[in-house]
Amino acid sequence: MKLRFGLQARFLAGALLTLALVLGLLALLLLRQASMQREVGGLGREAMQALVTETLNQRGTAMIEQMADALVNPLYFYDLDEIGRIVRAAEQQPDISYVLVYDPDGNILHDGSEDISAYGQRMTDPLAPAAVSADQTLLQWSRQVVDASHPIAMGEQRLGGVRVGISLAYAHASETRAADMLSKRLRELGLRHLGWFAVLLAILALISAGTAWYVQRTLVRPIRQLADMARVIGVGKFDGTRLVSTRNDELGELIRAFGDMSDSIARHDRDVRKMAYTDALTGLTNRLAFRESLDHRLLMLRGAGRQLALLFADIDDFKRVNDSLGHDAGDEVLLQFAGRIREMVERLGGDEALVARFGGDEFVILVQNGDVRATATHLARQMVQDLSQPLTVLGRQVFLGTSIGIALFPEDASDASTLMKNGDIAMYQAKLAGKNCYRFYSRAMDQAVERRVRIEQELRGAWDRGEMSLVYQPVFRVADQRIVGAEALLRWQHPQLGSVASAVFIEVAEQSGLIEDIGPRVLREACAVATDWRKRHESLDNLFVSVNVSPRQLHKGNLPELVADCLHESGLPSRCLHLELTETAVIQDEAQASAMLARLHRTGVRLWLDDFGTGFSGLNHLRRVPVDGVKIDRSFVADLQRDPDDLALTTAIIALAHSLGITVVAEGVETSAQMELLKARGCDYVQGYLLGYPVDAETLVDLLDAQCLEPEG
Ligand code: C2E
Ligand code: MG
Ligand code: MG
Repeated sequence: MKLRFGLQARFLAGALLTLALVLGLLALLLLRQASMQREVGGLGREAMQALVTETLNQRGTAMIEQMADALVNPLYFYDLDEIGRIVRAAEQQPDISYVLVYDPDGNILHDGSEDISAYGQRMTDPLAPAAVSADQTLLQWSRQVVDASHPIAMGEQRLGGVRVGISLAYAHASETRAADMLSKRLRELGLRHLGWFAVLLAILALISAGTAWYVQRTLVRPIRQLADMARVIGVGKFDGTRLVSTRNDELGELIRAFGDMSDSIARHDRDVRKMAYTDALTGLTNRLAFRESLDHRLLMLRGAGRQLALLFADIDDFKRVNDSLGHDAGDEVLLQFAGRIREMVERLGGDEALVARFGGDEFVILVQNGDVRATATHLARQMVQDLSQPLTVLGRQVFLGTSIGIALFPEDASDASTLMKNGDIAMYQAKLAGKNCYRFYSRAMDQAVERRVRIEQELRGAWDRGEMSLVYQPVFRVADQRIVGAEALLRWQHPQLGSVASAVFIEVAEQSGLIEDIGPRVLREACAVATDWRKRHESLDNLFVSVNVSPRQLHKGNLPELVADCLHESGLPSRCLHLELTETAVIQDEAQASAMLARLHRTGVRLWLDDFGTGFSGLNHLRRVPVDGVKIDRSFVADLQRDPDDLALTTAIIALAHSLGITVVAEGVETSAQMELLKARGCDYVQGYLLGYPVDAETLVDLLDAQCLEPEG
């Protein structure tokens, strides 16, 4: 944890500093007091000493003068008994060390003892000479005593003197006692002061602690709680308990305001989350939320050793709905699809299933109940079946299929990204397998995807390497079953990949943009070949070649110039070149397309609408686009005998086209029964394996040769 100098720490530091300051002041005060005590003690002692000195001086003087008086007569009469009595009386006093009476020469006459042991001895102590020679009261101080002496005289006659030694030890002892008493009193006083200081200090500490507690409770703790809560909100958690306060002060106000703010942030966050996590159109989970949920589920399942299936569903040819019916219709289709999928998943997917829209026409479903493979299979089968039921959009019936890819966890992928990628690959394979079906992912599919990447790589330069060629499928007039023209179809023979299906490589070329490079070459070669046929069969003046033009080429803008160029180069009459445009490409942007078709018409070529009926343009559309012919799609022709709807539609197309002066070609005629039905409805031309497969340019010439030999008929 990082330490910091917070509010509480600051307050504590302040309190401690104040306490230290007070303590310092107290210490100073105590020091002052101690030195004052010492000073007062010293002064007391000095005063005492002065007093003692004074007292001793007075006492010595008084005593010695009194004694000198008392001793005059006994000394004059040399009455040693009386002298002894006076001396002993004096000596009895406790502080008197000695009393000496001496003659004028300083020899001791009496010392107070019974036998006067020192009688006649001369006084030899250092104070003696001054005492003997003094003619009045003399006080002398030595270490041990105060020596008071006084001469004794009768009239003019000097009789001797008396000396008294007052012990200083005695005086000192009482002096010390007094001084001790004084310092004891001072100490007691000091201690009393100290006690007061201690009480003061304790009160101060108590106040500090109390204030600290109060600050902690009323300021620091709520602020900390606010900070903690802000931190929790900061990491996006809004479900923490809300702080409440009944306080009436500014902090209470802050806490309430904070609570309101966090509520509003939480509300805002919920809204934003909802917006960020749901698909705006369908209300389903969106890609972002799905991804989060998938990650979370995989984490849980991995621990529990359970399985999960991911279904990747894509509406087949949804783009056509948008292109032909508009985006509102597209949205309506998506909404209805989403509703159906949701309903089916709720019914069949188990309670833990999840449906998400991935944007566009992609839906992803997670299934994790029971035997996920079986559940996923059941659900996918049902979806393919139910979703192919017609939808009613803008009063019109729309038929759509769904391709579904299924990837399983943990067999096919151990992480979310791979699982989604593999689901996508499986879905793509379902598309390749003819759409409107489902496929489980298998490792082999990875190879298919690699193959697609390879195809794109190999497609570059395939024409230059001579791997591409054109075949021509004859188009027959229904009335006499004679060849009136041929459709140029591209073929690719790769040295390693072999013959690549046109459905596969044309799509790759279209998606990668390579078609913009290949398309013009096809056109150029087809024109050249057709010119050659016409030279060899001058009788077939109207023999045409039809060339498929991709939506990309149509939208590029330079198509009319290219067409004019090819016609000019080859010398082919413009009426003998037919361009096959897909319905989707023409309808995508009607205004732009109409302008383009008009420009193409000006070059003199004929325009055909290919694969007619697979889009949703409706028959009325034919009235608005200026084309010369329509090619009824193979899928209608294939079902002519079985499906009365297809027969009705085909009949309607032919009738309408004729009423507009448009030629009708039927593609993919494989049986004579189909041929008969078309003939009965007045279809103009047919194309199909029944009458002719796609062949190379030379073989077509042979076919034309053979036809010339036949009688017309
Ligand atoms: P499409 O323009 O509708 O061409 C007719 C397709 O139907 C050809 O397939 C043809 O071989 C096939 N077909 C003809 N008669 C029958 C029949 O009786 N039964 C069946 N089942 N099929 C029949 P192909 O050659 O595989 O071409 C597929 C598509 O690739 C073409 O459809 C066309 O859209 C596109 N395509 C082919 N060559 C070119 C090209 O040079 N440029 C462009 N942009 N697209 C091309
Ligand atoms: Mg065609
Ligand atoms: Mg076609």
